Amino acid sequence: MFAKKIGIDLGTANTLVYLQGRGIITNEPSVVAISTIDKTILAVGDEAKEMIGRTPDTIVARKPLKDGVIADYKTTEAMLRYFINKALGRVKFFRPEVMVAVPGGITSTERRAVIDATIAAGAKAAYIMKEPIAAAIGANIPIGSAAGHMIVDMGGGTTEAAVISLGGIVSCTSVRVAGNKFDTAIAAYIRKKYNLAIGEQTAENIKIQIGSALPLDEKLYLDIKGRDMIIGLPRIITINSDDITEAIQDELSAIITAVKSVLYETPPELSADVMEKGMVLSGGSALLKNIDKLLSQATGVPAYVTDEPLLAVARGTGLALDNLESYKRSILSLR
Ligand code: ADP
Ligand code: MG
Repeated sequence: MFAKKIGIDLGTANTLVYLQGRGIITNEPSVVAISTIDKTILAVGDEAKEMIGRTPDTIVARKPLKDGVIADYKTTEAMLRYFINKALGRVKFFRPEVMVAVPGGITSTERRAVIDATIAAGAKAAYIMKEPIAAAIGANIPIGSAAGHMIVDMGGGTTEAAVISLGGIVSCTSVRVAGNKFDTAIAAYIRKKYNLAIGEQTAENIKIQIGSALPLDEKLYLDIKGRDMIIGLPRIITINSDDITEAIQDELSAIITAVKSVLYETPPELSADVMEKGMVLSGGSALLKNIDKLLSQATGVPAYVTDEPLLAVARGTGLALDNLESYKRSILSLR
């Protein structure tokens, strides 16, 4: 079978690729390394991330989707081309059909740009699906039914909350607060409280290891290394999970506000469904400890983390490609 179908979760943090018949085959950072000398594209994905920081003067990292909007066409196309070629492997005679999941908040011009970039990158046909819908499909929510289904996808750059019914979005919000903002807040907190400077990567590791949306019954501790801001030398300190909970309070509040605003906008019959079935959480930041509990407490709607939340959107694009006919109402624009 040569007519390949490729699903792409073009995330702000990670891009995942689904290949029909194979499942999810790639999961790499959404980063493109560009030479500052002649603006050429040097590497994409894992390789690009590795290059950054090693030769800081001549190479810059570009994220095609910063905060959930397309930063620039050229980088987006380069990234799509890289991932499509990688998925095709050696079989390049047949141009694939490609489904790209994009942030729900991107403009129609940006959507057009993604479609054009996908075609320019070698696709025979390009389909676009909004991320919350793809996430819901990937979480096995029966989105085609007349009931209301709520999904909250929390990634790196954005949190998108949506209520879906009959295959379409009834109400939704997108806020530029998610995993990356948690990392920044953690670094700022540690700088302020402990006079210790840490990098973004360290902040992310701390979050993944001991971060929690609510104080844990049994606190977790972690030794972290940074640069003392007063004496300027490396220093190790011990922090605990309560530090992290406190550090990310403002960001958590912003997410709660977004989730609530979607609930307010939802027609009563559909919100009754949501109350009953609860909201499903997807995206990497759904792995933050106790985020489900916090959202349940704050909204009164039960929240559940879907299985493998990092993979939900990619899985959704794949399922939609496998069943194009039944999901046609959920697919935004085709060509
Ligand atoms: P995007 O769709 O924007 O590319 P992802 O869904 O891939 O984002 O999620 C990436 C985010 O998830 C990052 O901010 C990362 O730090 C966060 N993340 C991954 N694993 C965990 C974890 N175990 N706990 C908390 N956050 C996590
Ligand atoms: Mg995502």
